[in-house]
Amino acid sequence: MRAIRFHGPGDLRVEEVPRPEPGDGELLVQVETALTDGTDLKTFRRGHPRLLGELPSAFGHELCGYDVASGRRVVVANSAPCGACPACERKQETLCESLEFLNGAYAEFVLVPARIARVNVLPVPDRLPARVAALAEPLACCLHGVDVAAVEAGETVAIVGLGSIGLLLCACVADAGGWPVGVARRPERRELAREFGAEPGDGRGADVLIEAAGTDESWRTALKLVRPGGRVVFFGGREEGAQLAVDAYRLHYEELTLQGAFHHTPRHFRAALAFLASGAYPWERLITHRVPLEQLPALFADPPPDLLKAAVVP
Ligand SMILES: [Zn+2]
Repeated sequence: MRAIRFHGPGDLRVEEVPRPEPGDGELLVQVETALTDGTDLKTFRRGHPRLLGELPSAFGHELCGYDVASGRRVVVANSAPCGACPACERKQETLCESLEFLNGAYAEFVLVPARIARVNVLPVPDRLPARVAALAEPLACCLHGVDVAAVEAGETVAIVGLGSIGLLLCACVADAGGWPVGVARRPERRELAREFGAEPGDGRGADVLIEAAGTDESWRTALKLVRPGGRVVFFGGREEGAQLAVDAYRLHYEELTLQGAFHHTPRHFRAALAFLASGAYPWERLITHRVPLEQLPALFADPPPDLLKAAVVP
């Protein structure tokens, strides 16, 4: 089968590799559509401390496809918690001590490990397009992030960064009863945020700030914009060793709350698929490009300015 493999930063190759054979409890899934995301783009540029296996590594982690054994159409999350470690027992499954990750969505077939097959594979309603169903993983992360933010009805929640994740966060905040404010430079993104329930704005004085760009600048911006007594959720991951300088005076006298949000749980993955199937927001607007496997390395090397997500159809 054809598969994309990551050989190192900037080096993706389309290769012919053996089609995997499922063992006990594993699922072989024929990929219908995979989606690109910002994490993949960051990983392409600099590698990733948590997501990748040994090099060359299988690549891609958002997908919808067919379980080859049963013919069922499924979405597959890119991880599953163990269910047995102290973090899992506290129901903090994003902190599972042995979170098992899946890569390899950019291929004709992907082998789903037994634990993920057991916990985090869901049947997809027939009428839901594969490219929309494959949003379940990033949307699950956003639902978890909004849970971490503990958004209460009527709160103003500014989202800094309006890529696909920022736009999904807008929808999650709106559905949680908050008032999302979309903060971004590009006018077309601010306009698009309206379709995901947000008002464009500068975010100043918001009750809650959610950082959704994962850059040094956006982390600092989120911290600067929050009101006294407000909360900041750092959603966009940073490279290992990255530091954040915090104004200790503000942190203390203005009683700021700073928190990270990482990844998703099985509960959020299930909720995300139902949210997508509800058709409540124009999810398809997030998928701006469509490419075969062969064109993916070029897309990552030189992403078009209007790229939100690309549907990769092997
Ligand atoms: Zn665990």
